[in-house]
Amino acid sequence: MKNLVILGAGTAGTMMANHLARKLSKKEWEITIVDQHKTHYYQPGFLFLPFDIYKTSQVKKKGANLFPKR
Ligand SMILES: Cc1cc2nc3c(=O)[nH]c(=O)nc-3n(C[C@H](O)[C@H](O)[C@H](O)COP(=O)(O)OP(=O)(O)OC[C@H]3O[C@@H](n4cnc5c(N)ncnc54)[C@H](O)[C@@H]3O)c2cc1C
Repeated sequence: MKNLVILGAGTAGTMMANHLARKLSKKEWEITIVDQHKTHYYQPGFLFLPFDIYKTSQVKKKGANLFPKR
């Protein structure tokens, strides 16, 4: 079994985890994603917080919900 490690579960890491989970065989590859936070922050949404267009709950998501199940 090969292990692919993604450092950082921000925008790039989350996109790569989802992309590679579809491309790499489950039997051959394990995918590990490492981050210091369990929360994923949607940074572009930060711009809308001071104007009350977005609420905090809209820019903070549980990171694990955005990763592939495997
Ligand atoms: C206010 C704001 C508005 C923005 N608006 C836009 C926009 O409109 N359009 C657009 O395209 N882009 C926008 N961006 C930029 C966009 O959010 C970033 O380009 C994008 O998030 C970068 O993705 P990334 O995966 O490289 O980094 P990040 O998404 O920042 O992810 C890095 C991850 O690595 C983790 N990490 C870092 N160091 C460590 C460590 N030592 N150990 C463990 N984990 C670590 C962090 O916790 C984080 O989760 C905006 C950014 C900001 C701040």
